[in-house]
Amino acid sequence: MNSVNRRPLPSRIERLSELAFDLWWSWNTVAREVFRRLDYPLWRLTSHNPVKMLDLVSDERLEEAAKDRAFLGIYDSAIEKLVGVRSGKGTWWPQRCPGLADISIAYFSAEFAVHQSVPLYAGGLGVLAGDYCKEASDLGVPLIAVGFRYSSGYFQQTISTEGWQVEAYNRFAIGETPLERARTPAGQPCTVVVQVAGEGIHVWVWLVRMGRVQLYLLDTDVEENPRWGRDLSATLYVGEREARLRQEIILGIGGVRALQVLGHNPAVWHLNEGHAAFVVIERIRQLVESGQSLEAALQTIRSTTIFTTHTPVPAGHDTFFIDKVKSQLSSYWGTPKEWHEALLELGLHDDGNGNLFNMTALALRGSGAANAVSQAHREVTRHMFAPILPVTNGNLQAITNGVHIPTWIAPAIDTLLERYLGADWKERHDDPDLWEQVFAIPDEELWQVRQSLKAYLLAFIREHARQRWTERQASAAQLAFGGTLLDPSALTIGFGRRFTEYKRPELIFQDEARLARLLNAPGRPLQLIFAGKAHPDDGDGKRSLQRIYRRAGDPRFAGRIAFVDDYDLHVAHFFVQGCDVWLNNPRKPLEACGTSGMKASINGVLHMSVADGWWAEGYTGINGWLIDPRERSGDWAEAESLYRVLEEQAVPAFYERDGSGIPQRWMAMVKQTMRTVAPQFSARRMVKQYVEQMYLPKVGGVRAASAVTQEGN
Ligand SMILES: *Cc1c(COP(=O)(O)O)cnc(C)c1O
Repeated sequence: MNSVNRRPLPSRIERLSELAFDLWWSWNTVAREVFRRLDYPLWRLTSHNPVKMLDLVSDERLEEAAKDRAFLGIYDSAIEKLVGVRSGKGTWWPQRCPGLADISIAYFSAEFAVHQSVPLYAGGLGVLAGDYCKEASDLGVPLIAVGFRYSSGYFQQTISTEGWQVEAYNRFAIGETPLERARTPAGQPCTVVVQVAGEGIHVWVWLVRMGRVQLYLLDTDVEENPRWGRDLSATLYVGEREARLRQEIILGIGGVRALQVLGHNPAVWHLNEGHAAFVVIERIRQLVESGQSLEAALQTIRSTTIFTTHTPVPAGHDTFFIDKVKSQLSSYWGTPKEWHEALLELGLHDDGNGNLFNMTALALRGSGAANAVSQAHREVTRHMFAPILPVTNGNLQAITNGVHIPTWIAPAIDTLLERYLGADWKERHDDPDLWEQVFAIPDEELWQVRQSLKAYLLAFIREHARQRWTERQASAAQLAFGGTLLDPSALTIGFGRRFTEYKRPELIFQDEARLARLLNAPGRPLQLIFAGKAHPDDGDGKRSLQRIYRRAGDPRFAGRIAFVDDYDLHVAHFFVQGCDVWLNNPRKPLEACGTSGMKASINGVLHMSVADGWWAEGYTGINGWLIDPRERSGDWAEAESLYRVLEEQAVPAFYERDGSGIPQRWMAMVKQTMRTVAPQFSARRMVKQYVEQMYLPKVGGVRAASAVTQEGN
């Protein structure tokens, strides 16, 4: 199968394959430059996929590159950096935690968005997990991540002429990705077996290298398995309950076993959302089988497990009938059997729909500490799980999410920051003082860059439409609705995220006549760009998408509304960097945190949002806008507030220009948003906080627990 060094490379540049097979390249400027320079047309053609590039690039080009001094200079520098990153030397972790060089931390998540070439994510949770791993690598945190290799990934979206979402599941071609078989310390390909519904399901383990961090991906699509077993890891978040339960059994139980077979013995086990909560069951089972009492085993597991909950939306918390769980696990237990029932009771919770096996309840009861992902979300979670929280001693913390700055910063903004904040600004980016320097950037320069980023976005949208036309002869109307009529000088509002009811993609259409006036204002028009996928089972989300698509074709809106299909990491980059305003209007308090607005803000795109999730903490009064209907509430009141903010604040600030054509008031806000958001809502601040508040107390806990045992002896 797939292995590093698939094709002989000139010896002077033979480590190109090592670089291509370590996704660290994707967030390092020098490493990216290596592949851009190697073959720029191929870089574009493959949507930035070095593994594919190394297959396609011609021998002549490789020979030429191997003799090109300038190329070799950046190649050598990238390789040297990669070696340094893998060792973790000189990073934050060894300084902060001397003496903990040998430990590892396991991080379980059902999805990881690491790069567009590895489609193993559906939305924000996956992007967060991917950003978390990248930042852990940058900080030298010894993280080992565990997830799934979904053989069909998440679906690719196209839109029919009627505006209906069409889903295509393309099999994931492992040979075009940096996946390799993970190997045991003895050099064998790693496979584990998990008993599900009386059948031993074989699970292959793949490795994705991410600098200092290893990401292991479980895969049941292997020959030894029955058809239903092979399909278990086919797609993310299967709707069918039994299949979902089986997936989660594989993730939790298979994940623990995989790490053990690979020779890892994590000091802390971090469950990122409830999907992986069977980790708790498997670890307790092992301890009980080795002779510990259930009570003692539970204590040990709690002292080394932490849990992050990510959503207050009930559908985000998986529940199953207890009998179903028992039957799936019937052949899993060894002897003795008395304690199975007691163990499964850890998952029972009545959320108003009867006593069900609830993955969040299991994760909370199996963890010694838990956290929510913003201050507001902590309060909501406290209320939702009030009967269970005493288990964690009420220890529910709030650690607000953040975004990985090197991943989300636009190259043109990066260059500007290098000039005005210092060439090493990325090394110090979570230091708020550093950001005072953004005021030194001349308005004209920053405005120029902002304009060029909008131009990239519109060029990208045209290219996207051109592809649709080439592939499917999309109609002229479809090309127009896809954004080819957009105007680079108009105030551009972006809305890109999963299409789901609580995010209210249609809020801005509450008063269509008023919106039409805004879009058509002579000399100061507004335009709206939407993107996002609805879950395949979410009919409401799809109908909402369809209504927006139809409005794109409504002449009242004059071609100033567009819907760009197939939102993914690649599209998201252009969106959060290229719009002028980023709109976020979820139904409070359902957005636990939200991260797309952070990505926009660090690039100087102004955030216009209700005070939910992170914006309740991030809004300072001068770094963006608040949609706030004061004492009133509900869709109409909030839409009214949104229109007022647009009419009275955003539109005037954008269109008021000085003698050189610069919107000065606007630029002052752009600088405020970059200054306040970048350091505080970076993944760097977030990962450091997890280490300080969640990991280090647990590591202390392990040492204390083993000391107690020794005294007992
Ligand atoms: C950041 C991101 C999200 C999350 O967006 P929210 O507005 O926080 O829900 C979803 N999808 C992609 C591709 C992203 O990059």
